Amino acid sequence: MSTQSDTFEKAQKIFNHICEIFEEQKINPTPINYQVWYSYFKGDKPRLRQEMDSILKDTYGYNDRAGRRLFAEFLDNEDEHSELDKLFKRLLDAMMKKLSLWTQRLESNTAQLDKYSQDLSQSELNQDTLKDLTHSMISTTAQMRDHNQTFQKELVSALTEIQKLKRQLLEARAESMQDELTQLGNRKAFNLAIEELTTQATLEAPLFLILTDIDHFKKFNDTFGHLVGDSVLRYFSNILRKTQKKHHTSCRYGGEEFAILVQNGDLEQAKAHAETLRTELKKAHLKRKDTGEVLPDITASFGIAQYRQYEPIDDFIKRADDMLYKAKQAGRNCVKTEFDD
Ligand code: GH3
Ligand code: MG
Ligand code: MG
Repeated sequence: MSTQSDTFEKAQKIFNHICEIFEEQKINPTPINYQVWYSYFKGDKPRLRQEMDSILKDTYGYNDRAGRRLFAEFLDNEDEHSELDKLFKRLLDAMMKKLSLWTQRLESNTAQLDKYSQDLSQSELNQDTLKDLTHSMISTTAQMRDHNQTFQKELVSALTEIQKLKRQLLEARAESMQDELTQLGNRKAFNLAIEELTTQATLEAPLFLILTDIDHFKKFNDTFGHLVGDSVLRYFSNILRKTQKKHHTSCRYGGEEFAILVQNGDLEQAKAHAETLRTELKKAHLKRKDTGEVLPDITASFGIAQYRQYEPIDDFIKRADDMLYKAKQAGRNCVKTEFDD
């Protein structure tokens, strides 16, 4: 949890403070919650700090789920997989050792057989020596066969184990890329996708980023509660999933914000996709499951930017975000692109 640069006293102070807060606000003392709060107070991750500040300002404040989301977005590096990675390495090491042992045995058996065959070529072999030699050769060969069989069995079981670990590793990686609430890719998945897709983008195969943010969602949550808010997020995510085309990558960017990377199309297609999402959400006319009450229309605003080859990814995201801001300023429930006049 702490790095070398943390002084012990500082870490201790933060920790005591966290304990007080957890006690006061009835926050579960889970390792993830500790790590999120620790990093928040340490202040070495400005984006986490920013998000946490806005969560804390929110009526519903901090909960385990918010913690898991922050953890996945800002703190979950490859460390958590290192246990599996370590196991992998240990297994491979063990296999390498067995392989070298087996090679040594093979070498010594072969040397033995060579010696027998030299002995055989001596002219003055009597019946008894011949018998002894044949016997030794048979037993050495049998030994080789046994070693070989054992080794093969060990190899097969190690390979099975390696395959199992590999599957677990892939599953763990996939899970760490998925947003729990919406089952869309999370911020981490988005970061990986944008990194990869920006390197593939050209003028002929452009890349667009649609950023969308649900309008007045705080008020919606305050009026109808977080659970109803959650079902709206799931509903919007389903729209994203259902309308997603082959060259689209849709992720939950954070909170009530989503990002869609559109590859290979043109601006009109990206705009048309945003319009589809906008109208589908607007016409949802959702009802509360518990009371049947019809909820007010929910809308979202959209900003679109096109990737400029070789520009830093943050600049690309910022341009889409600026357009989203423009859409909010223009009264929300609309789509703005950098190419509008
Ligand atoms: P704007 O139209 O300008 O976007 O206003 P807004 O109220 O949507 O924006 P603001 O950033 O002030 O509030 C975002 C709200 O999104 C705050 C928080 O309650 C809500 N939110 C974020 N994540 C979740 C979540 O996982 N579930 C629910 N129910 N609400 C969330
Ligand atoms: Mg927002
Ligand atoms: Mg919003």
